[in-house]
Parts: sequence; C-alpha cells; structure tokens
Amino acid sequence: MMNFDLTDEQRLLEQSVREWAGKEVAPRIRELDREHRFDRTIFPQMAALGLLGISVPAEYGGAGMDYLCLGLASEELEYVDTSLRVVLSVHVGLNSLTLLAWGTEDQKQRYLVPQAQGTKIATYGLTEPAAGSDARGIQTVAIRNGDRYRLTGEKIWISLADVADNYLVFAWTDLDKKKQRDPSGMSAFIVERAFKGFSSATLTQKWGILAGNTGSFKMEEVEVPRENLVGREGEGFKIAMFALDQGRYTVAAGATGLIRACRDASVEYAKQRKTFGVEIGSHQLVKEMIAQMESDYQTSRLLWQRAGWLKNVGRRNTRETGLAKWYATVASERAAGDAVQIHGANGYSDEYPVGRFYRNCKGAVIYEGTREIHKIMQADYLLGYRSDRPPRCELPAVSN
Ligand SMILES: Cc1cc2nc3c(=O)[nH]c(=O)nc-3n(C[C@H](O)[C@H](O)[C@H](O)COP(=O)(O)OP(=O)(O)OC[C@H]3O[C@@H](n4cnc5c(N)ncnc54)[C@H](O)[C@@H]3O)c2cc1C
Repeated sequence: MMNFDLTDEQRLLEQSVREWAGKEVAPRIRELDREHRFDRTIFPQMAALGLLGISVPAEYGGAGMDYLCLGLASEELEYVDTSLRVVLSVHVGLNSLTLLAWGTEDQKQRYLVPQAQGTKIATYGLTEPAAGSDARGIQTVAIRNGDRYRLTGEKIWISLADVADNYLVFAWTDLDKKKQRDPSGMSAFIVERAFKGFSSATLTQKWGILAGNTGSFKMEEVEVPRENLVGREGEGFKIAMFALDQGRYTVAAGATGLIRACRDASVEYAKQRKTFGVEIGSHQLVKEMIAQMESDYQTSRLLWQRAGWLKNVGRRNTRETGLAKWYATVASERAAGDAVQIHGANGYSDEYPVGRFYRNCKGAVIYEGTREIHKIMQADYLLGYRSDRPPRCELPAVSN
C-alpha cells in the first residue's frame, strides 16, 4: 500500500529544522545577504542538530536518518535561505554520501567521521574555468609518483570553496585518455586545504546566494597520498556523476522549499495590499499566479519524495532525481518571478524577501546540471539513447 504520511522521526526532524532556521537565521538573513556575509557560526549549530551528518549512519558519526529526512531538511533550510541548503548539498550530498558509498574504511574513518560530526567541512570540486556542463573538458591533472599523486589545476564556482577543509576533486590520471576525452581516464581524490600548494579565494562578483560562500581553489603540484584516491583509478567520472545524484536530490528538495516560501509570502501580501478597492488576492490574475505556485510546490514535493523513497529502498534513481531537480528548479524560477510580480514595486526592493528568492533561485537552474542538460537527459531516456547500469558502489538502503 502507498503511504504519503511522514514517520514520527521525519516529522520531528522537519519541525526542528523549521524552528531552528526560523528562529536563528530568518531574523538575520536580510542583513547577511546585504553584507554578502557567510556566517560560519551556522556550522556548529547545524552540527548540533545532526544536519551535517544527517543521512550518514551512526557508526560513521552521523545522525543515521533516512534520505527523506535529508530532503525534508533541504526543503526547510531553503525555505529560509538558499545558502543554508547549499551547505547540505555540498557537504552531505555531494561529498559525504559519496565517501559513504565509495570510500575505503580508512577514508571513512579519517574524513567521513569528522565531516558527519561537523568538525570538518567538505565540498565538491568538478567545475573549472573552461568546463562546467562539459565535465570531460576539465584540465586538472594528477600525475602518479610512487605512492603519491601530484595534482595541478584550478576549480571555480565551488560552493564553500573558501571555507571548507576537505575537497572531493576530479582530475585526469591518464593523459592519453584526456586527449581523447575518454572519461575512464579520470579519477577522484580527497584533497585537504592543509595540503601544501593548495589555495582558495571567494568570488566577490556573485549576485545571488549572497549569504553563502562560493569561490575557487588552485592546486599547484599538491601532493596527495595514494590512500586519498576515491574508488579505483579511472572511476572518477562515474563517482562525479554518482555524487550529483545525491546533490541534485537536495537541490530539488531545496527548490521546493523556495517555491513554498514564494507562495507563503505572496498569499500574505495579496491579502494586505489593496487596489481598486479590494485585496489584490481577489483579482483572478493574481489568483492564477498563487494557484500555479501551489501546483508547482505540490508537484515538486512529490517528485523529490519519490526520488528519496527510491534512495531509501536502495534503487537506482538517477533518472527520477534528475527529473525532480529539473522540474523543481525551473518551477522555483517561475514562482520567484511571480512572487516579485505580486509584490509590485515592493517586490523590487529588498525590504521584502521575494527579491532575494528571485536572485537565489537562478543558481539552481544552472548548477548540478543546467536546465538544458536535464532536458536532454530526460529526452535521451525516453528515446533509448541513455540508460543506467548499476554502479559498482551504491548508497546503503535504509529501513524505517
Ligand atoms: C552558485 C553556484 C554554485 C556552484 N557550486 C559548484 C560546486 O560546489 N562544485 C562544482 O563543481 N561546480 C559548482 N558550480 C558550477 C556549476 O555546476 C556549473 O556552472 C554548471 O555545471 C554549468 O557550467 P558552466 O557554468 O560552465 O556553463 P556551460 O557549460 O558553459 O553552459 C553555458 C550554457 O550552454 C548550455 N549548454 C551547454 N552544453 C549544452 C548542450 N550540450 N546542449 C544544450 N545546451 C548546452 C548550458 O545549459 C548553459 O545554458 C556552481 C555554480 C554556481 C552558479
């Protein structure tokens, strides 16, 4: 039988994240956003709530919650601000869950445990100045020398780049395959900020997610021990794509929260503002925008929850997660545009939150697979140009 009810644990998690973000972050977010300031004090607070290791099993220092809880937390965090959800996306989704599935026991002890406990912050470095959607175009190389690799390259547009401790980095280990753009020549590594030759910077020209940190990092002949190779040599591209299945899931759920935030702000405003002698909510064209937000919210929520359910039962979900991410992010852009519209000129001022929602939503239509890349993927599944084989490593299923 189908069951759309949340479990007690899921409801409690949803409630506690909602309360924490509403009480601790919502009152300050406008100032943080205005000042382009990332507030590091949210890390210990998120750690105390168990969020930094939310779906990591207790044996690796995590809260041991299921993947639906990860989605619920993402939705609640982005309801308040996208920068909060981004922390879950890169630290938990892209990095820690990838180590959980692909890491050695030694890597889990050395990296996953402190990350899940929140004493170390982690992120994911695939994008480079000349390669985003076209991940085979990356130029970073890892040259093997005995029991070490020497990494040289530059990553850009990396969330938390200037504040993280640990980086999941993708580089070519086979230079012939690099020339042929054969992705089986790519490998994945754990790189620490503390390694010699590593440097990072913050991107200061960004116009959205201003309360978040986005930056770049450079590796100049950074020596990485062989024990930090994730998976086997040549599995890097597969690992990068596996990580995106988890990151995209949090992005989908987060965008769903943003749609809900647009809906709630619009309903409130539509009942306060009057034109032509009546509340603007009584105009049919305003109702249409609000109704569309509700439809987009409910549809997006069903889509990410289906993907979360598939993760819980241990089934491949690249297709479903991609659809959820594509739909919810595009819908969030529609919702944020209409929320500004409903607020009229007030929506064009940062006295109201909807302008921030409008700036923040666009990033997610670009990162973790652009709108166009996701469209192509969904069409390719239907046309039979694309199918998924089981990866060598999978997320552990969870039972409720
Ligand atoms: C706020 C923010 C945070 C980010 N965080 C991270 C992070 O933590 N880690 C990380 O590795 N990266 C991160 N990124 C980078 C992000 O993943 C890339 O920007 C994204 O993959 C797109 O790459 P690009 O910007 O190089 O655009 P391009 O790939 O150059 O694309 C430009 C345009 O061309 C279109 N296009 C490209 N190829 C095709 C095609 N085959 N068919 C049709 N259209 C196409 C795209 O859809 C897009 O509209 C972040 C980006 C942003 C904005």
